[in-house]
Amino acid sequence: MARSDVRSLTGTGPLLLFGAGYAAAIGVSLLTRFGGGVACMWLAMGVLSPYLAKVPVRDWWRVAIVAIGVSAVLTAVAGLGPVAAIPLAPLNFIEASILALLLRRFAPVDDGALRSIGQVAVVIGGGILAAGLTAFPASFVAAHVTQTGFWHNWTNWTTGHALGTIALAPIGLLLLSGDLGHWWTGATRGERIEAGVHAAFVTLVSAGTFAQSVLPLSFLPILPVTLATFRLGRIGAAVSTLILSMIAIFFSLRGVGPVTLMPPDPSLRIHLVQFYLATVVITVLPAAADLRRRKDVLRRLAASEARYRLVTENASDVVLTLDAEGRIRFVSPSIEGLGDYRVAALLGTPAGNLLAPEHRPAAARAHLDALRDPGTSQVVEVETRPDAEGAQRWIEMRMRAIEGGPAGTTIELVCAIRDISKRKSVEAELQRAARTDPLTGLANRRLFNDALDLVLERVARDERAKACIAIFDIDHFKRVNDAFGHDAGDRVLARFAQIAQGVTRAKDLVARLGGEEFGLVLPGAGREEAQAICERLRAEFAGAALVLEDGSHVWTTVSAGIAAIGGEDSRADVMRIADAALYAAKRAGRDRLVLAA
Ligand code: GH3
Ligand code: MG
Ligand code: MG
Repeated sequence: MARSDVRSLTGTGPLLLFGAGYAAAIGVSLLTRFGGGVACMWLAMGVLSPYLAKVPVRDWWRVAIVAIGVSAVLTAVAGLGPVAAIPLAPLNFIEASILALLLRRFAPVDDGALRSIGQVAVVIGGGILAAGLTAFPASFVAAHVTQTGFWHNWTNWTTGHALGTIALAPIGLLLLSGDLGHWWTGATRGERIEAGVHAAFVTLVSAGTFAQSVLPLSFLPILPVTLATFRLGRIGAAVSTLILSMIAIFFSLRGVGPVTLMPPDPSLRIHLVQFYLATVVITVLPAAADLRRRKDVLRRLAASEARYRLVTENASDVVLTLDAEGRIRFVSPSIEGLGDYRVAALLGTPAGNLLAPEHRPAAARAHLDALRDPGTSQVVEVETRPDAEGAQRWIEMRMRAIEGGPAGTTIELVCAIRDISKRKSVEAELQRAARTDPLTGLANRRLFNDALDLVLERVARDERAKACIAIFDIDHFKRVNDAFGHDAGDRVLARFAQIAQGVTRAKDLVARLGGEEFGLVLPGAGREEAQAICERLRAEFAGAALVLEDGSHVWTTVSAGIAAIGGEDSRADVMRIADAALYAAKRAGRDRLVLAA
């Protein structure tokens, strides 16, 4: 609470206002003195306790001066007289302090009044406790001053004070916590009119019940009070029970109403009325507090639902919920951007249908893992089924099971889908780049090694499988560079690559191993076939000159070593054999092939 806020409550103006309210509450209460003892309905607590609950304890002395002063004067003049006033006025203050301290400790007004059943219980229980405790010294005084019985006074004090508190303190708390003010400023015109209609209805039915003595209709006011509680919550409950209490006590004290149908003991009658009123209040106030809590829960739920809706309807991510069998229960509209999907057509269908058939098992595995391990997210990358044009997208599916069925069973699976086609194509491009030689567009040495390993593995596994490799090296390439420039050399390399890809079969791999050295992997090729392919390449390369811009012709030749792959060979073995063959070809005069023995 801000300091200025506190000052505003203990300043002269508010203190005077409080004093007037306190005096009025005592004045009305003193009208209910019955049989000469203490009052039967003490409303003053309902004013003083909420006030003390709001004012900081170090400022209580200011309130005490006003409260004890007002109480002493009124008790002296209109109550039990000046002798009784001296102990009773401070007792009233002590009683209110007990409830105020309980409220401060367990149901702070600054958090709002009567928001939970616990807070309501503190008001009701604290009111009864404070009244019952102070009833002992108070009744001792009253009994001596008025010559009435101790227990007669004790009962009147306890029930009267407890009821007064239960009836008025809720309104006081709602006022001082600012809840009543907030309600009023926040209410629409229609809501204010409705509140007025409820107040009028409660007043009318209460008066109709308690102003007549023919029929025992005291059950009747429960209807408008309950109605007001359901429609207006804490405010409705507090105001309507206050109206009902005032009217019931007013008529009952005048000997009118259903009380006349009871035994003719005035004190018993008034206690029965109090008991009736307490029952009504204790019924509707907790209900109001619980309604308020539910309203909070519903509001939070609605807010979270709205956020969820906002996210799912606007995000480019697709949100799906699936039942335990994997059928689509909900799918956000963004799914329509992922392919030729229609939300309406998808509902109730298996989510696997969204995917390319070869990817369904992976998604199904993630689905099962998510079900088996609720609370964790399973992530899987899969491709969508081809659309009408055959286009597919890579998507990432993130699945999580939501428990909430009976005995912790899974009720649904939430699945977020993100289009990762861009990332996949970048990845593929990077992968391709990492395995390609940029100058010639051929595979690089890494890819050559991988392809060779695959072939070695196959040959090792299957003794009938054949394969060869060849290493080509351009002859006197240095001279090309020296004579025609580095650019011309590059074009010679590119031309070799072009011719090599032209003469090899689809399943063959041509790679640039580095510089002017190339490697061929020829799966399934025996020696003769490999030799034939390599001979075509050699001949075609040697037969076609590169023509430069200035019209000069660059004639180049190439030598190669060919090795057949045996079942026991390692990659290093095969490469060494092919290299030795190449070296032999160079030595033998270049522009030729040597097939390793
Ligand atoms: P040999 O017949 O014995 O193979 O003779 P060579 O001149 O081809 O032998 P060497 O291996 O000594 O020379 C290879 C040359 O290839 C050296 C280098 O300058 C050149 N070279 C390597 N990479 C490139 C390239 O990317 N572009 C060009 N233009 N030249 C390259
Ligand atoms: Mg070389
Ligand atoms: Mg060379």
